[in-house]
Amino acid sequence: MSDNDELVFIDDERQPAEEPNEARPWFILVADDDDGVHEVTRFALGTRSILGRPLALLHAHSGAEALVVLRRQPDVAVILLDVVMESDDAGLRLVETIRSDQSLANTRIILRTGQPGHAPEAETISRYDINDYKTKAELSESRLLASLTMAIRSYDQLQRLDAHRRGLEMIVSASNQLNAKPGVRAFAEGLITQIAALIGVPADGLVCACAEKPTNTTNGGEHRVIAAAGQFAPLIHHRLSEIDDARIALALQSALQARASNIGRHSATLFFAKTADAGFAAYVGSAQPIPPIDQELLEVFCSNIALCAKNVDLVAELRRDAFLDRQLAMPNRNALIVELNRRAQVAPYGDGVLAVVDVDQFATVNDILGQHYGDLVLKMAADRLRERFAPPAFVARLAGDAFAIIGQSDALGPASIQDCFSSPFALMGIQQPLSVSAGVVYLNSGFRAGGEYLADAYLALKRAKASGLAQIVTFTADLASEVRSRARLLDDLRRAFESRQLYLAYQPQIDLASNRVVGAEALLRWRLADGTMVPPATFIPIAEQSGLIIDLGRWLLHEAMQALHRLRAAGAPDLRLAVNVSAVELRRPDFAASVCRALRDMAVPADALEIEITESLAVGTSEPTIQSLATLRASGVTVAIDDFGTGYSSLAYLDRLPADRLKIDRSFIATLQHDGRAARIPRTIIALGRELGLRIVAEGVEQQSVADAARALGCHEAQGYHFARPMPEAEFIAWLEARPPASD
Ligand code: C2E
Ligand code: MG
Ligand code: MG
Repeated sequence: MSDNDELVFIDDERQPAEEPNEARPWFILVADDDDGVHEVTRFALGTRSILGRPLALLHAHSGAEALVVLRRQPDVAVILLDVVMESDDAGLRLVETIRSDQSLANTRIILRTGQPGHAPEAETISRYDINDYKTKAELSESRLLASLTMAIRSYDQLQRLDAHRRGLEMIVSASNQLNAKPGVRAFAEGLITQIAALIGVPADGLVCACAEKPTNTTNGGEHRVIAAAGQFAPLIHHRLSEIDDARIALALQSALQARASNIGRHSATLFFAKTADAGFAAYVGSAQPIPPIDQELLEVFCSNIALCAKNVDLVAELRRDAFLDRQLAMPNRNALIVELNRRAQVAPYGDGVLAVVDVDQFATVNDILGQHYGDLVLKMAADRLRERFAPPAFVARLAGDAFAIIGQSDALGPASIQDCFSSPFALMGIQQPLSVSAGVVYLNSGFRAGGEYLADAYLALKRAKASGLAQIVTFTADLASEVRSRARLLDDLRRAFESRQLYLAYQPQIDLASNRVVGAEALLRWRLADGTMVPPATFIPIAEQSGLIIDLGRWLLHEAMQALHRLRAAGAPDLRLAVNVSAVELRRPDFAASVCRALRDMAVPADALEIEITESLAVGTSEPTIQSLATLRASGVTVAIDDFGTGYSSLAYLDRLPADRLKIDRSFIATLQHDGRAARIPRTIIALGRELGLRIVAEGVEQQSVADAARALGCHEAQGYHFARPMPEAEFIAWLEARPPASD
């Protein structure tokens, strides 16, 4: 008797073959090296169904073959497995492999063996999660069915648990993703994707309708399709009634009306309340019946997503805020960058232009006429820009009084920007003239990030601002490399300062009447390691812009004070030292106090110090600056106005500025050589300065004749190469000592 004969089906009372079942079958793998077993099993199970689903048999004749089948069809519910196949333990080896594979963890295994002697150890049975063990003799048809039913039921439960876990994970991630969707439309699109993923159908045949008006309206025309995928995609924005499939239209309509979901066998219509009387309905169709487990998940999904649906307007508003300047109701910097990036995607090498526009002297307008007035000015400026640069141009507010415009190069040229502001603004009965400066960059360098273009435009704007009012500068590669080299220079300057490569040079100031040295100007010097000198005109502006001048100025004052003691001891007992102070330093509210403290600490009398401020600085002098100059003068420090004649200040302004000395710029002093017309200006300045009670210093005197002329015109003192160049301290001391005593 062969093994085959032992498989006798005692229960011959067959159940009638069931109706063809459309449900997914349970896959059963028969792994046995005996052809007879396959045949008998096919005969016994082929037309059966278990738990309402048919059985589909798969066949393998060895462990290796079984593995191939499982790789192709991992969704196998039960393996009827022979222990002895190509080897004595081929079946057990297969089990070992299966159990190490996560995707087959739920597959149930019924071991069948010919002889009881081949039965595996109990330990093996539990280790490999073998579910049943039968000798072939034990397997009558009815017992096989009973065994199989149990195994399938347990497989089904395990699968459901898994699906629940995965479903719940998906729901959590879906709500996270949907929460981040900006706006109703994106939310609806997200809904479609997530529902499709949940049921495991392609995102096709899905419609989402939104009821913005009360959902209980009987007029289906009010509801529109706001997102759709696959075959329904063309329906976006259409009325619900225009959906060809009346069944779907009706399902959505009734979900919106009843404000409830309806999950059927082949479709789910889900409702998500947005407000008390508005909401979304999403229809999902599925060719396969939607399994009960997915139906449960969809319900969980609905209640979970309801909160996202309620928040969708809030999220949209937050997003709007992130891209909107509320004050001027226009796009903000973020929106500009998005727009720049978008345009770079569409036309990376187009002829677009970005202009960053800044209102000139807006801070002054704000200060003098008040913030409310300033706000109105900004509003008017924004309106003009928007009117002049209508879409497809794009106008945004960057910050404060800075705006940005994106446009085509032919329409957005320097002339058109200035043109916007050529006529004054009529505001609260005031004719307010305004000018703007702008930095312009061409958007034709390919796929650059919007932020980079903006940075370039800002750079050009900065240059425009530095060159005066109403200037427009176009960004170029030269400008960029200049900025880079300035950045490098600043870096070098910082290091030079830290490593004491900076020092002071002193240039004597001579009293023209007595020919005595009455003072010296301390001038900053920077010698590079290779001996070259970096001119102050190069590094001082960089130090000012970066703020390094504050530390530099503090250090310099101490250096000068220490030097003063040595210089006075070296034969100039009344020597006064002048130091140059920049606007950045002077503007600091603690400036006067810190100078006074330094004088005290260094035991230097206040009248031994003079501070030089440039005339252009004096023009921008605000009340606090004048105050700190006054404080210094009150303590005995003297103040000189440097480079007079080169700045913009009116002579009348001198009357307001607390000063002791007027240093007339060397460009005027040079003209003193020539009699006549050229010398008229210095002559007038000198006369006026004297009138105001100021001491007059001639700067840059290079010849004796000029010194004589300056003296004749009323200059009190002079400074220049004719007397001495600026010298390091030791050299200056030697110079002082070598100088013949003055003839008083
Ligand atoms: P300044 O304060 O007007 O300094 C006078 C400048 O004229 C110095 O140039 C000096 O070397 C130069 N000079 C003096 N006599 C003659 C002459 O007879 N002929 C000619 N052609 N030039 C003469 P320097 O040292 O290159 O300084 C340039 C500017 O840099 C200074 O102008 C000052 O504004 C600024 N500066 C120098 N040191 C400092 C400092 O420590 N702090 C600040 N804030 N600025 C400084
Ligand atoms: Mg000076
Ligand atoms: Mg000067």
